[in-house]
Amino acid sequence: MGEKMKIAITPKIQIGGSIFTPDQLIKIGNVVGEEAKIEMTPFKQLYAEIPLDRREAIEEELKLIGLEVYPSGYTTKSLIACNFCRGAEEAGLETAIKLNQAIAGIETPTPIKIGYAGCALGTSEPLLKDISVVKMRNTFDIFVGGEPKGLKTVIAKLLLSGLTEEKLVPVITAIIDFYKENAKGKEKFSKFVDRITLDQIKQIAG
Ligand code: SF4
Repeated sequence: MGEKMKIAITPKIQIGGSIFTPDQLIKIGNVVGEEAKIEMTPFKQLYAEIPLDRREAIEEELKLIGLEVYPSGYTTKSLIACNFCRGAEEAGLETAIKLNQAIAGIETPTPIKIGYAGCALGTSEPLLKDISVVKMRNTFDIFVGGEPKGLKTVIAKLLLSGLTEEKLVPVITAIIDFYKENAKGKEKFSKFVDRITLDQIKQIAG
C-alpha cells in the first residue's frame, strides 16, 4: 500500500446549488477506486482518499468532466454558496464564481469557511461562516466571525456594507492574508476576530 492523501471534490458553483450529474458520480467512483473512502463533509465538499502517486492523473480526470478539486485540511474551503434561486443575474452567480476562484484552497492556520448568499434571505446560512458575502440588490455586505460549532454558537458580525463587486476579492483576500500573518498558532478565526477587533479588521479590509 502506497501513501494516501485526501482531496476535496465539488461540482461547479451553479444555479440549483451543489449538483452532481449521475455521470460525475460514476466517474468519481471509478477514478478513486473501489477501496477509497469518500466522505460528505458539512461544507459541501466530498473528501476522497486517493493514492498520492496518482494525484495528478485523478485530478485531471475529474476536472475533465467539469468537477473542481481542492486541497483538504487547513485551507480556505471552496465558497459555500446558496442555490441562486433568484436567477444568475439577481443573485450574483458570476460574482460568486469569481470569488470562489480567488479564495478557495489557500493554506490557513485553521480551516476557513466562506459563505455567499445571493440575497438577504441568506438560505446558505451566511452568518454561521467565518467570512460571508451577502448580496444586497447591487452591492454586497461582508460579515466575519461566525462559529456554528460547540454549544455557544457565534453569529457573524457585519464588517462592511455597500461594497461594489470589484472590491470583494481584494477585501476578502486582505482579511485572509491578515489572519494568516497574525493568528496565534491554530487560533480559530472567530476567536481571532474577537481578539483583533472588528475595527482593526475594517482598517485592513477597507
Ligand atoms: S440566499 Fe436568496 S438567492 Fe440565494 S437561494 Fe437563498 S433565497 Fe435564493
